[in-house]
Amino acid sequence: MNIKENVENLRTEIEKLKLENNIKKDIIICAATKYVGVNEMREIISCGINNLGENRVDSFLQKYEQLKDESIVWHFIGSLQTNKVKKIINKIDYLHSLDRESLAREIEKYRENPLDCFVEVNCSGESSKHGLSESEVIPFINSLKNYKSIRIIGLMTMAENTQDFESIKGNFRRLKMIQEEIISINLDYAPCSYLSMGMSNDFKEAIIEGATLVRIGSRLFK
Ligand SMILES: *Cc1c(COP(=O)(O)O)cnc(C)c1O
Repeated sequence: MNIKENVENLRTEIEKLKLENNIKKDIIICAATKYVGVNEMREIISCGINNLGENRVDSFLQKYEQLKDESIVWHFIGSLQTNKVKKIINKIDYLHSLDRESLAREIEKYRENPLDCFVEVNCSGESSKHGLSESEVIPFINSLKNYKSIRIIGLMTMAENTQDFESIKGNFRRLKMIQEEIISINLDYAPCSYLSMGMSNDFKEAIIEGATLVRIGSRLFK
């Protein structure tokens, strides 16, 4: 594994894709670090990637303690059990998996200042995936208006697990459409300007369809 080379290659591919598709906005690379330990995480930070995403509470807490000397923007990208909220909620910068009101209530209890959250949407309909169904998203966001510690900055999805890239693009396109609908409602607590979509296998399709943040794991750490 050559992390530096992987980062350079990924950056080059993203730049090329942006040029070809006339995309001007910045794309944030969030490294999904579940495959690696703190040494590899330090290495990726030294390559200029300090948006790091963990998906399990216990490994997040261990790594958080060990990396206190680094300047890291922490993303929690996995599903979050309600009874573990208290342990991590004031240590993270972004939550990508808000998908139920019971979770919002627990965040409201413990979070000291507003937390930037993505609402997770299950655009593929696969039962193995977390997230709200498409029709549940807007009612859910409407139900959050009295939660002072929750700011809906965007939507997150994991596309269908398939090599059918047209189908994957369809998933991403639907997330973008829901985002536009939310933006048009114009809620002060839900600016919803970001889309967290695209992983190692499908980040190109995601960027073409409007991703602002891609979550990349195996591609960086293989
Ligand atoms: C692991 C993980 C990723 C990255 O997946 P890769 O296919 O390894 O790039 C992205 N998002 C979530 C929620 C993950 O758990």
